[in-house]
Amino acid sequence: MDAERVMRQLEAAGWRCVHDAEEPKGEVCVINTCGFIGDAKEESINMILQMAERKKKGKLKKLIVMGCLSERYRAELEAELPEVDAYYGKFDFMNMVSALSSSKTFCPELRLRVPNTLRTVLSEDKRLLEGCSIYERHLTTPKHYAYLKISEGCNRMCSYCAIPLITGRHTSRPKEEILEEVRWLVSQGVKELNVIAQDLSSYGLDLYKGERLKVKGEGKHLLPELVDEMAQIEGVEWIRLHYAYPTDFPEALLDVMAKHKNVCKYLDIALQHCTDHMLGLMRRHITREEQDKLIRKIREKVPGICIRTTLLVGHPGETEEDFEELKAWVKEMRFERMGCFAYSDEEGTYANKHYKDDVPQEVKDARVAELMAIQQEISGELMGKFVGKTERVIIDRIEGDYAIGRTQFDSPEVDCEVLITVSGERLPVIGDFYDVKITKAEEFDLYGEII
Ligand code: SF4
Repeated sequence: MDAERVMRQLEAAGWRCVHDAEEPKGEVCVINTCGFIGDAKEESINMILQMAERKKKGKLKKLIVMGCLSERYRAELEAELPEVDAYYGKFDFMNMVSALSSSKTFCPELRLRVPNTLRTVLSEDKRLLEGCSIYERHLTTPKHYAYLKISEGCNRMCSYCAIPLITGRHTSRPKEEILEEVRWLVSQGVKELNVIAQDLSSYGLDLYKGERLKVKGEGKHLLPELVDEMAQIEGVEWIRLHYAYPTDFPEALLDVMAKHKNVCKYLDIALQHCTDHMLGLMRRHITREEQDKLIRKIREKVPGICIRTTLLVGHPGETEEDFEELKAWVKEMRFERMGCFAYSDEEGTYANKHYKDDVPQEVKDARVAELMAIQQEISGELMGKFVGKTERVIIDRIEGDYAIGRTQFDSPEVDCEVLITVSGERLPVIGDFYDVKITKAEEFDLYGEII
């Protein structure tokens, strides 16, 4: 989403931008990097090397790197990869826009934060935009859905996480600005808004200080209010919420989710672990009992909700007993969607400074595989319950003999899909909703027919 804003600003400055070109032919290649965990860092560096090679062969004039990786390791990158013409971090991208700009029509107020890894290839274009608002962007997602970032940064300081080191303190965008952006997105044909934040639960805590924070625990969370107002904007068909934090979860949100049909019965809430021993070491500020109580409450107040969670195994100090308890808990909680990651030791984090990375890599990998096998079985059972039901499905794309879509219980790119058999005569329209009768289920996909 932030990269989309950069592209829009560059277009306003007279550049033609192509997103994620396989073999860039433009004059300038901008690589927007990620540097949160080892895999992402490696992917970003490989991409830089690949593009540096193209530059060497004369296929690119300029190579620019921006984003989290260069925010975190700029000096090291400058020393190791001099083929790159300029480095920018996560917060100074406007300097890049200025440096590249052939006009002064970009927005001075633009605030761009977390980028995704992508390449943006730029070439000169005679067409200049009139200038643009701070919420406008060059959408790179299919026209019918978009990501909507409502805050940046995180104050939680979980032991293993480098995000707060890169993004800084939690900062909410003003509600009015977000609502304005929603209206603009709807005017562009967006029907599904995927709301994101590093810590969704804290939205609003930093706004209206003094008024809202006088009474601890009362009226301080603005997320329920924001979602309620978003849901009333005409044209908003689906709102989907990502990355809630369990401690201080704003429970009034559950009433808003139950009240509005266009707020998907879906919540992405990373729980990471379940034992009090590990939750303590991870500095999650929650106990197993509190966490379980919250999950029960979410399911009770929003019946049929799909909960997606993420777990972390192999964190320093995780014993066999912790892992056995985690497996039993996953079987008991039966999350509709679940992902699992192995701990990676990140410089500067609390865990890196205070703990020994004492779980061998092969044990971490085996634990991930074991948990995912358990989840695969659970998912198969839960998905089987959809057979015979009719679900509202949005069509994302057509592939061979199938129209591929999603129900309200699935987020784009990460969750399950519905494969709908189509005949050549009347293909469903991408971005439209259809009632689909589910005829078959697999662990991570459904099959169905439009009725
Ligand atoms: S809440 Fe999420 S982003 Fe914040 S420190 Fe914990 S894991 Fe990282």
